[in-house]
Amino acid sequence: MALPPGAGSMSHTLKIGDVTVTALTDGSVTFDPHILFPKTPTGAWAPYYDRFPEYFSGPNFRNNLGSFLFSSGGRNVLADTGFGPHGSMLGNPAPGELLRDMARKGVRPEDVNTVFLTHLHGDHVGWNMREDDSPELPTFPNARYRVHEHDWAHFSSDEMMSGPRAEAMVRSVVPIERLGLLDLMDGKTQLAPGVEAFPTPGHTPGHMSLLISSRNERALLIGDIAGSPMQVTETEWHYSPDWDAGMGRQARRDIIERAVEEDAVVIGSHLSYPGWGRIITWEGRRYWKALD
Ligand SMILES: [Zn+2]
Repeated sequence: MALPPGAGSMSHTLKIGDVTVTALTDGSVTFDPHILFPKTPTGAWAPYYDRFPEYFSGPNFRNNLGSFLFSSGGRNVLADTGFGPHGSMLGNPAPGELLRDMARKGVRPEDVNTVFLTHLHGDHVGWNMREDDSPELPTFPNARYRVHEHDWAHFSSDEMMSGPRAEAMVRSVVPIERLGLLDLMDGKTQLAPGVEAFPTPGHTPGHMSLLISSRNERALLIGDIAGSPMQVTETEWHYSPDWDAGMGRQARRDIIERAVEEDAVVIGSHLSYPGWGRIITWEGRRYWKALD
């Protein structure tokens, strides 16, 4: 079994006041950065090789597929469900580790009350449905699934359902809606005590983040607003998965500014495992720095 970079040397839980955060992973995927940053020359990443050694395999990215469990007031909110056991992602094999990782960490699928989907890209919905001999059943039998209504409308549109993102929708999202398990959100929504979803559009039309606030401590789950730790610094670099490039940049600037102002821990889907850190300033620039 391939552990993600950094696994074993760090704790996989974090306390934000009374909220316990458990880092989960579907494994990591290695790919050429040009696929997501077609306008950025390879050499532009070199200054980050020493700063984020866990994130690079030679010049290639080694991208964690992170999910997070937020436990508070007897409720368990699972944020995102990975890529799943669906072959290759960006041309490279995806491990589909999430359920094994949950088992290792003592998290049972039946304990999840809410599956919160930051957005409906295929690497965030992959384990929504069971992938064993009962593929017609949800993986999390006691959970309601939640997503912003703008993402559901966008990704279930005729145009998107005839494009390359349709496969994940057909396999992992539409069945949840057909089973009556999908609850759409139209704005700020409390999911558990101290765990609130709020819209951060740009990466997708209905991308949402989480504010964790408890006992005067704060964290922000930023989903794919920054799809790599380097984007906390390079907020302006064109990120091709963003649905709206300008809104994507603005969302990055805004959430980083907020994290600095509120001294919040920053948790991200594709930040280095376990996925949490703080924003530091060094020689006039901001960087994400992992917490262990
Ligand atoms: Zn993603």
